[in-house]
Amino acid sequence: MTTPYSITRIGDAYHVSTEHVNWVLVEDGHDLTLIDGGYPGNVEDVERSVREIGHQMRDIRGILLTHAHVDHLGGAARIAAAYDIDVWTGEAEVPHARRDHLQQLGPAALPMVIWRHGAVGWLLDITKLGGTDRDGIPEAQAYDAGRLDLPGSPVAVPTPGHTDGHTAFHLPGSGVLVSGDALITAHAVSRKHGPQLIVRPFSHDRDAARRSLDAIAAVDAATLFPGHGPVWTGTMRDAAGQARAGEGFWRP
Ligand SMILES: [Zn+2]
Repeated sequence: MTTPYSITRIGDAYHVSTEHVNWVLVEDGHDLTLIDGGYPGNVEDVERSVREIGHQMRDIRGILLTHAHVDHLGGAARIAAAYDIDVWTGEAEVPHARRDHLQQLGPAALPMVIWRHGAVGWLLDITKLGGTDRDGIPEAQAYDAGRLDLPGSPVAVPTPGHTDGHTAFHLPGSGVLVSGDALITAHAVSRKHGPQLIVRPFSHDRDAARRSLDAIAAVDAATLFPGHGPVWTGTMRDAAGQARAGEGFWRP
């Protein structure tokens, strides 16, 4: 199956955005870093996006995961296996990526989201994309702290809350923050547009997710590449501020 996407390029970073989830490609000459990989059903879309920016899958030097939910890990797991690519994520996220446990809503939590505007269509769509898949990445490794030795020299920004080991990745050369689900700009089950925390039932630890907005606000980047929703331009301080305001409290 193929899913339509749009690509936004900022510097050496490419934000590939589909209706239900995004991934990021970072270029350094012939080499690429892939950050997240969509749903299991997005594998062909990831491959297509790599070709569209003039590369081949074998150019990918490593895969980074912001977190281990199926909409970010599912495609990455299949790509890592098919092309023998190493996968790194936050230390606290590694057991989640290996599926020692799962911090994701199961069917029992459905009543918490099903009443939301757009939720029924969203559930049908993500089921087709493999949203109920429970595969992990047994070989997932923890990245070392600081700047990572991968194309684009991503800098890990630990942002726990959405999951225990969630990590955003700063791309200093491109002035981009890849925020994963620590800060998004739209979602099928949210009526809001612009920087926001993901809807409450999807956050493992909401208070931690709010505190992680401080880490995002401190990043010196001019463009936000979120895990869901379109690219957003502005300071990370403003992006975090908008999300805080949407939470019903404000800190400067
Ligand atoms: Zn997500």
